[in-house]
Amino acid sequence: MSTLRELLERFKVEAGILSDLAAAADLLSWDQDTYMPAGAASGRGQQLATIHSLLHARITDDRMVDLLAELEASDLDPRGVDRAMVREARRVADRAKFVPARLVEELAKRTSSARVAWSQARSENRFELFAPELAAVFELKREEADAVGRGGPRYDALIDEFEPGATVAGIKELFDPLRAEQVALLESIAATGVQHSDAVLKRNYPVSAQRELCRATAASFGYDFEHGRLDETLHPFAIAIGATDVRITTRYDENFLNTALFGTMHEAGHAMYEQGIAPEYRRTPLGHGASLGVHESQSRLWENLVGRSLPYWEGAFPALQAAFPSQLAGVALRDFYAAANRVENSLIRVEADEVSYNLHILVRFELELALLDGDLAVADLPDAWNGRYRAYLGVTPPTDALGCLQDIHWAVGLIGYFPTYAIGNLVSAQLFEAAKAATPTLDDDIRAGDFSGLLAWLRENVQRHGSRYRPAELLVAATGKELTAAPYLAYLRGKYSDLYGLR
Ligand code: ZN
Repeated sequence: MSTLRELLERFKVEAGILSDLAAAADLLSWDQDTYMPAGAASGRGQQLATIHSLLHARITDDRMVDLLAELEASDLDPRGVDRAMVREARRVADRAKFVPARLVEELAKRTSSARVAWSQARSENRFELFAPELAAVFELKREEADAVGRGGPRYDALIDEFEPGATVAGIKELFDPLRAEQVALLESIAATGVQHSDAVLKRNYPVSAQRELCRATAASFGYDFEHGRLDETLHPFAIAIGATDVRITTRYDENFLNTALFGTMHEAGHAMYEQGIAPEYRRTPLGHGASLGVHESQSRLWENLVGRSLPYWEGAFPALQAAFPSQLAGVALRDFYAAANRVENSLIRVEADEVSYNLHILVRFELELALLDGDLAVADLPDAWNGRYRAYLGVTPPTDALGCLQDIHWAVGLIGYFPTYAIGNLVSAQLFEAAKAATPTLDDDIRAGDFSGLLAWLRENVQRHGSRYRPAELLVAATGKELTAAPYLAYLRGKYSDLYGLR
């Protein structure tokens, strides 16, 4: 009979190995998306598949299964760190265990063919090329949900992978007031007839100078280049290769400053979260962010609540003008600020402003739920999509390529993922409100380019905990309240009333 101490030691050794294997896979995929020569693609795919199958085998191995069972039956402190480690390991193990190998294989094959079909359908604007593949993906995801969900709503089983503890009922409760209020705000902005131009952001900004700007901006926020780096890629991301190496990527557009600048702020926000996790959680099941929604709250907070705020640009604009004199000389601060926060009834999610963004997410949430439950047939998706865009955003996609074919998520089997973007927005505002209450000088600090107080608050209340607490618990501890849409809506109303002269 092993003592509890011995069991824990063995568990942590095993968890450390899993974490190292995952980090190796992450480094390979970072390389794949940055510097890998094109000819290495199939070899790299093989290497990644091998590591992932090793990981899967180790997670579902009897040794791990027995260890978890013994630890769960032990008298570990129910509120202690070790118990939280076991909980997180169990979540991962159950997903790995309950999805049969045959289904994993079918999902891998189907999502790879669906991805090809999606790409072709999008470039030729022919939804019918993608429809049968999409139907097959949803069929397999229903099977997966039934395998891991053990009788609950299918959608709950799928979203739990990305947002532990979230349910479709809770999301609806959160999103319902959001929809009405954001639609109303967007309509009242359109009714003013005010159109801020973003032409100043679309002047020619040489890439070399943008590179310096992005580096300096990330560093000023507190992103640690000793434990990270900034590289270029097609679809920007942040990735933690273990706890001590958290990298960010961006994409430079010579004729649009936003892409790299706000994109870098966003990815730096994700990365600072991982960099802020307590060192004692390294190589344990707690050594990563609490959920995708909480992760997105960190990126959105730095990108929008800080990076697109008036105090930030009151401080940062003179330096930006000095770095880009021919592009920005004579541009008034207010005009630059308005350009960076231009509201537009847009078709494309990834280009959406803060007022519209959640509405893009609501469309996807409602439709993927209906598709999963069988309330909507795949053939009817384009019409359902366009109808919601008309109702919520006041625009009708002229083509499916600019409509229901714009995102890759469903093609690669990410169902239940979209809500985490909107949850991230809501969490970002609720956290920022709490940080502001705790730090009355926050606006002045941001104006002065001093982000250390804000980062310290986030470290203390969110980042250092990693996955120690479930997202809902973490938010209550940090802000004293459960998640609601109220802080985000108040933030939007305040900011955009000023920008668009709403009464
Ligand atoms: Zn993000």
